[in-house]
Amino acid sequence: MTKQTVLLIEDNAQNVYLVTYILSAAGLHVLSANDGPAGIELALTLVPDMILLDIQLPGMDGYDVARAIRCLPRLRSIPIVAVTSYAMPGDRERARDAGCDGYIEKPIDAQTFAATISTFLPPRELGVP
Ligand code: MN
Repeated sequence: MTKQTVLLIEDNAQNVYLVTYILSAAGLHVLSANDGPAGIELALTLVPDMILLDIQLPGMDGYDVARAIRCLPRLRSIPIVAVTSYAMPGDRERARDAGCDGYIEKPIDAQTFAATISTFLPPRELGVP
C-alpha cells in the first residue's frame, strides 16, 4: 500500500524531527519545508494528502500560508492542520477562517499525535494499493 504523504511546514528543527519521527513510525511519508514560500512550492510539486502547518513561521506566518494554499486550485481541498504554540483566545477561529481544517496546540502529545492526525487524512479506498 502506498504511504500517504504529509507535508510539514515548520521552522523549528526539533519539532520537524519529532513530528517526522512520530508520523513515520505511524506509516506516513513525511516531507518538510522550513518556511511558508518553500512549503507552498513543495505542496505544488508533491500534492500531499495533508499539510501540517506551524503558525509561528518567520516572514510569512501560517495564516498567510493557509490563505495562499486555499487560493491554489490544485491544493484547495487538501486538509490543513494548524499547529501552534502560545495559543491565544481566538487563534482557533483565526486558523479556521484562514482555511485550516484542524488545530493542534504545542507541545504535541507524542502518545496521541498520530491518531489525531489520522482523523484528518482522507479515507483510503479499500482494495486500492
Ligand atoms: Mn515556528
